Amino acid sequence: MLRIVNGEVYDPINGINGEVRTICVADGKIVADTGAGQTIDASGMVVMPGGVDMHCHIAGPKVNLARKMRPEDHRGDMLPRTSITRSGAGGSVPSTFTTGYRYAAMGYTTAFDAAVPPLAARHAHEEFNDTPVVDKGFFVLMGNNEFILQNIAAGRPEKVRDYAAWLLQAAKGYAIKLVNPGGVELWKFGGNVHALDDEVTGFGVTPRQIIQTLADVSTELGLPHPVHIHCNNLGLAGNWETTLETMKALDGRRAHLTHIQFHSYGGKPGGLFASKAPELAEYVNAHPNLTVDVGQVMFGDTTSMTGDGPLGYLLYQVTGRKWANVDVENEEGCGIVPIEYKDKNYVHTTQWAIGLEWFLLINDPWRIALTTDHPNGASFASYPRIIRLLMDREYRREMMKQVHQKAVAKTHLLELDREYSLYEIAIITRAGPAKLLGLKNKGHLGIGADADITIYNKDEDKEKMFAVPRYVIKDGRILVEDGHIREDTYGRTFFVAPAYDPAIEADIREHFDKYYTIRYENYPVQLEHYLPQHEVVACSG
Ligand SMILES: [Zn+2]
Repeated sequence: MLRIVNGEVYDPINGINGEVRTICVADGKIVADTGAGQTIDASGMVVMPGGVDMHCHIAGPKVNLARKMRPEDHRGDMLPRTSITRSGAGGSVPSTFTTGYRYAAMGYTTAFDAAVPPLAARHAHEEFNDTPVVDKGFFVLMGNNEFILQNIAAGRPEKVRDYAAWLLQAAKGYAIKLVNPGGVELWKFGGNVHALDDEVTGFGVTPRQIIQTLADVSTELGLPHPVHIHCNNLGLAGNWETTLETMKALDGRRAHLTHIQFHSYGGKPGGLFASKAPELAEYVNAHPNLTVDVGQVMFGDTTSMTGDGPLGYLLYQVTGRKWANVDVENEEGCGIVPIEYKDKNYVHTTQWAIGLEWFLLINDPWRIALTTDHPNGASFASYPRIIRLLMDREYRREMMKQVHQKAVAKTHLLELDREYSLYEIAIITRAGPAKLLGLKNKGHLGIGADADITIYNKDEDKEKMFAVPRYVIKDGRILVEDGHIREDTYGRTFFVAPAYDPAIEADIREHFDKYYTIRYENYPVQLEHYLPQHEVVACSG
């Protein structure tokens, strides 16, 4: 047994707000105190559950292609092998080993990849198996899947439901992800969709139908996480109207809108760029069926990687940098472009401010999660700095003096005095994301929870405090001390296995025979080979 004594505990799921408590661990779980065992004296320290990143890009072919495309991103950031850890490269798209170690060293113990095409699920699981320490899972791209589009067009939502359940099982995925629904399919022919009722040519469906059908499917299957939506028109001036239309189209259905910062822009394409965060945040505040994560932009060099093929091309046009665009047969696409966010740039400053506005304008911290859409807005390594921006109003004001002054003056950031408390930070970085993902044993320190615990030295400088925890405990073992990995372990992968009518398999087999270059029998991921350590999360449907 391990006992953590005298620490200030922040465990929002159990309503514990900085009280000094003893937390005890045995066999990888939080247990009741029996008064015996190894003791960590956490006097003057803060104890929280391990961090949970609910939206990042850390595995799969898109991430790997970005690594290959950007040797210059790694060159200045090499991690030599140690007696405990393996070697790797850092930068905005770290290698698998570095990804796991850096999350762990920062006190994060769970991370979900947000966009895996099911055809590439094997690859994603292979990389997960190479990513140390953290537990993980991924969302399965379905918003441009041809089988789904065909069956929505044919008015057969029950077939979409059975197929989605089959697909989650085949890919060993966790939730349904939509990326620019309908638009990526059209992009394969040079087009895109721009409004919810635009037709996806060749299929006769609209983004609205795709969004509503898959939101209903997520609910009917009882998935632990609702439909996870990257809206149409990401990054375009004036896109806030599409975002608001999407929220309205959901009409009470549960949904998570991701990297909402990138979807909150006023103005007109080619014209002036502006923040519409207040209007959208007001809508979210009034509609409890909706949750968001931010996708905060931070200044510096990073890599944009997206399942949104046409967006990849747009970013290439804007930046003029090297780019890649990939088609995933019958299912999805993706685009990759290096990007540098500059603090003297009008648009980039507006993006930075919009992200902060979202954090400061959402009343209920349980409905907003801290993300950078790693690495799209910035690397996950910038989370400690974002925490400081939220907790320290003076620091935020100092930073606001260093950005594009006209741009920041047009946002509402100057008027927002709010400062996050440690309790609220614990919500947006672990308790909230765990709840939104439906992970009952994560994000809290109650009896029976997974013993993933981060212990921080208290510090006025919150960036320093959150960058290098004193201890990180994963499944009850002390894996990190003062930022150094003490033991190399591998976490497990979460997936769901919703029930479906097996009659759908004949339809899927026919679809494979007609359209895929891979046979139906070879498509599902073999559990025993690709997920040596896993946990099936129950569906309520
Ligand atoms: Zn993303």
